[in-house]
Amino acid sequence: MNQADLQSIANEFGGPLYVYDAEKIEFQYRRLSNAFSGVKNLRLNYATKALSNISILSYIQKLGAGLDTVSIQEVRLGLQAGFKPSSIIYTPNGVSLAEIEEVADYGVQINIDNLSILEQFGSKYPNTPVCIRINPHVMAGGNSNISVGHIDSKFGISIHQIPHLLRITENTKMNINGIHMHTGSDILDIDVFLHASEILFETAKNFKNLSFIDFGSGFKVPYKKEDIETNIEELGERLTGKFNQFCADYGKELTLAFEPGKFLVSEAGYFISKVNVIKQTTSTVFAQIDSGFNHLIRPMFYGSHHEIENISNPKGRERFYSVVGYICETDTFGSNRKISEINEGDFLVFKNAGAYCQTMASNYNSRYRPAEVLWINNEAHLIRKEETFQDILHNQVLLNFDKVNERKTVST
Ligand SMILES: *Cc1c(COP(=O)(O)O)cnc(C)c1O
Repeated sequence: MNQADLQSIANEFGGPLYVYDAEKIEFQYRRLSNAFSGVKNLRLNYATKALSNISILSYIQKLGAGLDTVSIQEVRLGLQAGFKPSSIIYTPNGVSLAEIEEVADYGVQINIDNLSILEQFGSKYPNTPVCIRINPHVMAGGNSNISVGHIDSKFGISIHQIPHLLRITENTKMNINGIHMHTGSDILDIDVFLHASEILFETAKNFKNLSFIDFGSGFKVPYKKEDIETNIEELGERLTGKFNQFCADYGKELTLAFEPGKFLVSEAGYFISKVNVIKQTTSTVFAQIDSGFNHLIRPMFYGSHHEIENISNPKGRERFYSVVGYICETDTFGSNRKISEINEGDFLVFKNAGAYCQTMASNYNSRYRPAEVLWINNEAHLIRKEETFQDILHNQVLLNFDKVNERKTVST
């Protein structure tokens, strides 16, 4: 999809608006599949939390993917979107045993990441296949909010607890059919990833009934032109060799699984918003848009970079702008950005808006969450309507304070 397509969508639907390019999602899916074409059984489970619109899930299901979920609500969305229970894996962190039991009843693959729940679940359901999430204690990625495999992380069962883990699985006679790690987002160093994989292979040798090994996700995608991304092709070549060797030693063709979120959808997404005000101060020119961190929180939350283009005046003279939102707090999308000259009413587009943008949106400042559009076969399709004032009021209860006060009088 090109700039003219985005312009026509902006003119048709207005802003703020999320737009997703189906072709790019498919391209990324094929790219990852091809990188691991040397593995006999490959399973790509899309991480729902990155972008969970039901039409996106359905589209990804039709590409042949499975689904990675972290809550029972995501499991239900996946089932509604057409995923079979057997193609869904549930990888929660710190949820209740009751929720895990409910998901297990659907027939979804359970992945457990702590010894307490493992023991309770194992005693209650000795025959249900369970995957275990291991924390290999490697440091992947730079941002402390998204790096989850290091020593202080709350995720996974520590490799230092393997003896304890084995006592539990043997005592309860659990059926451990999978082993998993997810070291966090922003993997750059393939050697670090392969090192973590070696730890996973070592751990896997303790279990005789495995059917898959899940290497999680965290592939880095480019945000700027000069950004380095995970070299998926190199990772594919090197991990395939190690995996196939492991299977030969283990004596069984296992499935190699991944759970890509950002890799599949980040670059497919664009966020469009209209400029309300151009404000010139002594040192800065602010472009204030009709949106805020209620719709795209990543710059304020992670300090992440999203490229910004002016699609209403793409050939204009470039000037420096700080692009900010309307939230009554510091709300900066980008400082000192070189953007072609902006006029009030122009549409700006933010790139890499597919992953963790709409799914992290809120009603802060009592604003509506925007509509979503899927661009497929050169046509724009609405896949979520913009909220209305009714949605803001929907679950709120307006108390009748006269009644409340009356009761107080009676009781005293
Ligand atoms: C968030 C998450 C993913 C997806 O991570 P990305 O960086 O978006 O690819 C995969 N697996 C688990 C368990 C997760 O929590």
